[in-house]
Amino acid sequence: MSPPSPVLTRPTLYSADWVLPIAAPPIREGAVLVDDGIIVWVGPRAAAPIGEAGDSGDVAIEPLGRAVLMPGLVNAHTHLELTTLRGFLEGFDFREWLRTLTEVRRDLLTPDDLVDASRVGIAEALRHGITTMADTTDSAAPLQAMREMGVRGIGYVEVFGPDPAQCGESMQRLKARVEALRALDTSLVRMGISPHAPYTVSAALFRAAAGLARDEHLPMAVHIAESAAEVSFVRDGAGPFAERLRARGIGVAPQASSPIALLDACGVLDVRPLLIHAIRVDDADLARIADAGATIVHCPISNAKLGHGIAPLDRMLAHGVAVGLGSDSVASNDRMHLLDEARQATLMHAVRSGQPDSLDAHTALTLATQGGAAALGLADRIGTLTPGKAADLTAFPLACEETGPVYDPAVTLVHVLAGRAVASLVMVAGVVRLRDGIVTGADRVLVEDSLRRLTATAARLEEWRRRGSA
Ligand SMILES: [Zn+2]
Repeated sequence: MSPPSPVLTRPTLYSADWVLPIAAPPIREGAVLVDDGIIVWVGPRAAAPIGEAGDSGDVAIEPLGRAVLMPGLVNAHTHLELTTLRGFLEGFDFREWLRTLTEVRRDLLTPDDLVDASRVGIAEALRHGITTMADTTDSAAPLQAMREMGVRGIGYVEVFGPDPAQCGESMQRLKARVEALRALDTSLVRMGISPHAPYTVSAALFRAAAGLARDEHLPMAVHIAESAAEVSFVRDGAGPFAERLRARGIGVAPQASSPIALLDACGVLDVRPLLIHAIRVDDADLARIADAGATIVHCPISNAKLGHGIAPLDRMLAHGVAVGLGSDSVASNDRMHLLDEARQATLMHAVRSGQPDSLDAHTALTLATQGGAAALGLADRIGTLTPGKAADLTAFPLACEETGPVYDPAVTLVHVLAGRAVASLVMVAGVVRLRDGIVTGADRVLVEDSLRRLTATAARLEEWRRRGSA
């Protein structure tokens, strides 16, 4: 494990061709002053409050040159422990995809494998400028890896139990995990809980989990309104999820008019959860979400790749819901590049609406930063370059042939750099975690070792498949 890095002792001024505060217009030849892990000033480089001091003075100067400096990206939905499954589950329908994923995670991946996968996932996040991740996990491995590597995040520990008779046992296990893991919370990384989804969680378990979240002030996330099969399950007690549960001897009946109505009836919306996906929602659902103050993470690429459709992002925003962007796992994406999510969000909404400006680049970039921060309840700490907020910063270089000219840096980030930009500098709470695409300090060796073991694990999975188990 890498030791906690000391925060820079001297205030440092980072300057770049472009600074994007997000909450204010882009600044050409801008700068950000960081002191003790906090942003203390943002503005034009020429107006920086550093007097005549140079690098030898009270303030260290770090010019980033041809680059855009912005708040660290917020990936509001990941499954870091599934990094080993990138490209492994191609071509399955959703139920088979989920069944195989669950089987592999349960039977083939050891706890150490899951930690390795999480470290490699975090390295990918940092390379792509992501400083905060909201992860749902069945193992807590991502919490360990996030703490080790000094990123900011929430790890929502999952709970399952489709049979109401399992509720007590599921809650007992969840409470034990909360007790064990909560003590490990840090100023950057905290745990939450996640009742998985309506087809894996009974109404009784949803109610009990919501009660725990309320009593213990735990953040909560839930996969919801993702597939047509889920809607049939909730509304009609029918479809593939219902058949599978009936085959296990679990009774299934219609529960509510929609997945969101089910969460409302179970008291889940009252604890203002992060709603993952929310593709199949109508205006009545969105009004319930907005009234409750619940939030949404939009995962355009995962939603498309699994054939689940295009979520009504424009309606979410019209209802005033806080929305962030998420990559979901690389088992359904297969990248973790949040600028790519921003680009796909704009393209899909243009296709859906027939309007080229239905979601512009500035809005998409706001969702990837400020929106994600708001969706995770962290808007007072991160998401914009604002004095007083934590110095979670990302710089992307602009110095290559394909990136110029830059008329509007938001357009360049969302439409030019999406999917291929590698950050030149990433810091979390003022501590540099990545330089020129490479994680810093002892974390580099940690990630290299994990990547080597992950490659061996992947060979094991291939062998398992060759033997005809999948
Ligand atoms: Zn997910």
